[in-house]
Amino acid sequence: MLLAGGAALGAAGTAGVVVAGDGGEAARTAAPAAGPQARQVLKSSAFRLQPLTGYGPPRAAPRKLKVRSEPILQISGRGRRMMLTYDDGPNPAYTPHILDTLAKYGVRAMFFVCGECVVDNKELLARMADEGHVVGNHTWTHPLLTSLARGEIRSEMERTSDVIEDAYGERPQWFRAPYGAWNRAAFQLGAEMGMEPMAWTVDTTDWETPGTGVIVDRVESGAAPGVVVLSHDAGGDRSQSVHAIREYLPYLLDSGYQLTVPPRRTT
Ligand SMILES: [Zn+2]
Repeated sequence: MLLAGGAALGAAGTAGVVVAGDGGEAARTAAPAAGPQARQVLKSSAFRLQPLTGYGPPRAAPRKLKVRSEPILQISGRGRRMMLTYDDGPNPAYTPHILDTLAKYGVRAMFFVCGECVVDNKELLARMADEGHVVGNHTWTHPLLTSLARGEIRSEMERTSDVIEDAYGERPQWFRAPYGAWNRAAFQLGAEMGMEPMAWTVDTTDWETPGTGVIVDRVESGAAPGVVVLSHDAGGDRSQSVHAIREYLPYLLDSGYQLTVPPRRTT
């Protein structure tokens, strides 16, 4: 059932795919100590695109993102790539255990964090940076964006990007709407702030605390090339999520999956 849902979601949006390229390779091969900054490689073409005449400074404005009408649902690229994402944290009771398991297997993941959780746990974002994980913006207070005015959405997103920059070392390039409830303002503001909208393919529904075995089964039966898995490292008792990754992560690796993160866009 989850597989069918994931497949249907994927089929629904051919645009909803992000290519996992160099970042994926880096995720697999680079030492855990190498932070995202270490993966920042400027393409030579970026220099060739600079105007050859004029006396102004080099163009430094961030590349403008296309405003999407639906979020990215899955990743593409060669091979059996999947991506693990964790929402609503960081939380000192659960996030360190998930980071420990990821480190044990040399795997990187995405963490969509809430600003109000970051303020008291900045050291966890510093650890994510050190260990090469990608941090995304999941708003400040986790509101239903579709019930907010545009200015309130902007504030939720902007404050969170600010605290992420402070704790993680760079501004996020990815945004995920709480509850998967997107609207046009969220897509527009995200693009304006340099963030692509990222959803998911397989929901572990770990927030329902269905039991560790159920979470493990949802990930393993939903596993397929391109799948983005949604789990949570905060927002309630997440000990089942902590235990589940200890089981499904080695299973996915043994099954030949490469757990990846999106490549960093250069601006
Ligand atoms: Zn959430």
